[in-house]
Amino acid sequence: MHKLSLVHAPTPLVRRQALDVRLGVELWVKREDVTGGAESGNKLRKLEYLMADALAKKATVVLTCGGVQSNHARATAIVAAQLGLKCVLFLRVRSGPTSADRPAMKDALPRGGNVLLDRLVGAEIRLISTQDYAQRSAVMESAGLELARGGERPYVIPEGGSSGLGSLGYVDAMEEVRGQIDLGLAGARTPFDVVVHACGSGGTAAGVALGAAKHGAAKSVRAVCVCDDASYFEHVASRIVHEAQALDASLGAPAPLVFDDRSKGPGYGVMDDAQKRFLVEVARSSGTVLDPVYTGKALYGLARAVERGDVPRGARVLFLHTGGLPGLLAQGDELAEAL
Ligand SMILES: *Cc1c(COP(=O)(O)O)cnc(C)c1O
Repeated sequence: MHKLSLVHAPTPLVRRQALDVRLGVELWVKREDVTGGAESGNKLRKLEYLMADALAKKATVVLTCGGVQSNHARATAIVAAQLGLKCVLFLRVRSGPTSADRPAMKDALPRGGNVLLDRLVGAEIRLISTQDYAQRSAVMESAGLELARGGERPYVIPEGGSSGLGSLGYVDAMEEVRGQIDLGLAGARTPFDVVVHACGSGGTAAGVALGAAKHGAAKSVRAVCVCDDASYFEHVASRIVHEAQALDASLGAPAPLVFDDRSKGPGYGVMDDAQKRFLVEVARSSGTVLDPVYTGKALYGLARAVERGDVPRGARVLFLHTGGLPGLLAQGDELAEAL
């Protein structure tokens, strides 16, 4: 499968003593937050495949979607600009004017976080309602047809880049981890007991589970849901796994994959007070800067899972720090009281 080279790989594996003490496991943090510069994060691994496909199909414009402060939308917009492609983003908002057919008015757009970067690189932003978002694939398909009538060649990337093709980026990440284990960069020269990461659209989970098994990087995977519930993600991940296996015949069965939906907090992008305190304490004790939408909830979810006994004390855990810094910077007001 052809892919672009976008990720600064291998990403480092680091140890933070204070986190071992706090969580009660042997924690290895894989710095997927430094896969690149402003375009950094886990989405860059998926975009290596998705953007290669877009170029192979001679696309002139890429369309994708997400929450208003979507990291995936921002990474897609930046990479599109790097490749000379136009980009149209369908971003979900809870209130205010929306239209799937027209660019949003400047005044309706946030000034910070991911949206600042989307706008900086010139992406067209269309704000859509929660109702339209429920039909996101159809919304993007019909917008693509409209763009094609105007002479463009559209390429639609699904939410989070989470298709079988995109998930191959995380199969590769697990090969990279196996290489680090073999070089003695991960302590024992055996597979990790469990990979833990934040789950928002399922593609990372599917790729990690397939890659962990194929490359012997880890015995199991625990995906901490930041929205929706475990049964939803079981369904989504199994579809993506089948798509990936159809693309790459070398992929066997995925490693055992558990979706933990007990640490979502009040809702997507919203933390409760305990989660905020945890995010601040982790930063202060270890210099590990997590974000409130994804990675903060994932590490919090791991801490809770160890307390409940769902992850054994002393387990050798690979935590994927998947990025999200612009999302943190967009939540200064929400976090003010916890500081
Ligand atoms: C998108 C994202 C995730 C979740 O990855 P999915 O493949 O969408 O489940 C985790 N962390 C960050 C920072 C993200 O932007």
